[in-house]
Amino acid sequence: MSTKLLMGNEAFAWAALKAGVNVVAGYPGTPSSELVETVARLHAQGTARGVHVEWSTNEKAALEVAAAASYCGARALFTCKQVGLNVASDALMSLNYVGVNGGLVLFVADDPGPISSQTEQDTRRFAAFAKVPVLDPSTPEEGFAMMQQAFELSERYHAPVIVRPTTRICHASTFFELPEFTEARPIPEEGFQKDPKWVIFPKRAFEGHGEVNRRLARIAWDYAFDPEFSQFNHRFENAKPLVGIVAGGVSTQYAREALTLLAQWAAEAGMVLPPYRFLAVGTPYPFPAETAAAFAEGLCDAVVFEELDSVLEEELLRLAGQRHLPLRVSGKLTGEAPDRGENSTEVLAQRLARFFDRTTGDQNFSALVEQRLASSATEPYDGPLPVRPPVLCAGCPHRGSFFAIKQALGKTPAVFCGDIGCYTLGNAKPLDAVDTCLCMGAGITTAQGFSVAQPGSKAVAFVGDSTFFASGMTGVANAVYNGHNITVAVLDNSTTAMTGSQPHPGTGVTLMGEKRKPLVIEEVLQALGVQCITFANPHNLEESVAAAQEAIQFDGPSAIIFRAPCIQLKRPDAPVVISQDTCTGCKKCITSIGCPAIGFSAAAEGPRSGKRGQAFVDASLCDGCGLCVQVCPFGAIEGAVAQPYGGARSTADSPGSNTGPLAPISLDGETPAETEEDIDD
Ligand code: SF4
Ligand code: SF4
Repeated sequence: MSTKLLMGNEAFAWAALKAGVNVVAGYPGTPSSELVETVARLHAQGTARGVHVEWSTNEKAALEVAAAASYCGARALFTCKQVGLNVASDALMSLNYVGVNGGLVLFVADDPGPISSQTEQDTRRFAAFAKVPVLDPSTPEEGFAMMQQAFELSERYHAPVIVRPTTRICHASTFFELPEFTEARPIPEEGFQKDPKWVIFPKRAFEGHGEVNRRLARIAWDYAFDPEFSQFNHRFENAKPLVGIVAGGVSTQYAREALTLLAQWAAEAGMVLPPYRFLAVGTPYPFPAETAAAFAEGLCDAVVFEELDSVLEEELLRLAGQRHLPLRVSGKLTGEAPDRGENSTEVLAQRLARFFDRTTGDQNFSALVEQRLASSATEPYDGPLPVRPPVLCAGCPHRGSFFAIKQALGKTPAVFCGDIGCYTLGNAKPLDAVDTCLCMGAGITTAQGFSVAQPGSKAVAFVGDSTFFASGMTGVANAVYNGHNITVAVLDNSTTAMTGSQPHPGTGVTLMGEKRKPLVIEEVLQALGVQCITFANPHNLEESVAAAQEAIQFDGPSAIIFRAPCIQLKRPDAPVVISQDTCTGCKKCITSIGCPAIGFSAAAEGPRSGKRGQAFVDASLCDGCGLCVQVCPFGAIEGAVAQPYGGARSTADSPGSNTGPLAPISLDGETPAETEEDIDD
């Protein structure tokens, strides 16, 4: 054993490996991604032995891979972020009825804030809808213990179990005692046992629903009384309290810290904190009603702190109603707790002070807290702040793609349907090329709705290569089937860039390190029946505009593949330089493409700019993509321009030539298979 500092997600990975997990499958998404990457890294170094780990094409595929492994008796772990569970939900709803064999744990990371998500949905709520039990850690250490217990619970009840951390738990770091290596648990020799129960016919679903309901009652009992699980519901109190505080997840830690602060500040001010009872709920669903009932005994008032939805508050209200308890319950629903976003120690100190003021009535804790928080606040900084709007990286190939599409459209009215990925940042000015963004893969299908309802506008969909494989292909099939007049711009940067450069089916590299025949986007488009497919290197403006025009002018579903690697996957080229002799200070380079490597100095002077100021390039940021060289109308930017992609074009007039150049980009560190010999069976 040795002691190591681990991020929460790394600790979850170790916990699953210690539990003998056989199969790990997920789809990347912040704040969950590091778990799968940790398993892959430990496997590659020989530390995690016998485990299979993969990035699946999307969350639904990942859960179905994990489900079948579990049917065979293997322990399986599925990972995603909260919105990923929406994609996997079709499988999950049925799987819970069908049941599992080997322990199957769903690691679903929630994102209060949200910091990097399109919604703030609460997986505890989703779990209740799906009737799947949940464990909700308040610290990485607790999460480590919960992950191992989740496999036990899953096997005890033949049910999938969700472990639901939030961002701060996923990304906080602490020390863990770890073995030198882990070994996957042997999969039972009998393997998959054929049985009608695995086939979800309506009759089976009716039976399964009954099984689900019965086991939820038993799990709620286990949560309350079985030490293996009741350990996750902590309770403490001081003498004869009349009020209670309930917290779940990371809010448990914020509330406890806030109470410590309040007690300290009260003592210093000669005040006395009223006695209270505290309940931390780590097993929110099915709600441990008996634990909560014991907590509520003798209390007349309770406040609930939790992030995202009012799940615990509603359960406590229900309990009070069912058992006729003289308990007033407050929280999000009553405005006594923040209704969304992340909590913090400071916010909960304020809310607790108000709660104590209301329930005790004779002391002013709120004034005390406000005074203490004001005195401990750091002096506000009143100097200039760096301007750091979310923006595409300098040298990002998406910049040229967006710019070229808009150039190609000219004054043609258009709607730009964006999607989930780095390229959502194309909505920022000056590119201003994302009008809608709904969910993974929706750009291609919403464009079709626009093409029907607003045929006077050209509907253009943007989709990344990873999203194309995850959720875009069925949308293309729909466009071809229904003959929708849209152009799909595939922004192929050969990686899943936004979540940390994970491989995908188009890269030809798996997480286990094997080389596979890459799926080729143009082959998929062609197979789906797209008749016009054009290609361009997005750093080459002339080629990109021409290719975009050809695709846009095509009557029917068309596609343009903009292909250039993410800057994280390549070495930067030589930075460009702006000639002070030539720059006129017109700012076209700034107002047209918005590259963060280009700034403007109002003090700079030159023969053509006079005192108007001049643009400059920050060589430490510039990737040398050369896009700005092609944008400057005065030739003031000196640097190399990217070679055209040079791919064959295709239109309906020349069917058969539309395969284009099929060889994917060869990337530093991630070389796709090039020959048949390179491809593993
Ligand atoms: S570099 Fe070119 S585009 Fe930029 S401000 Fe100077 S002249 Fe204008
Ligand atoms: S070459 Fe121009 S557009 Fe490309 S990264 Fe450098 S400054 Fe930005």
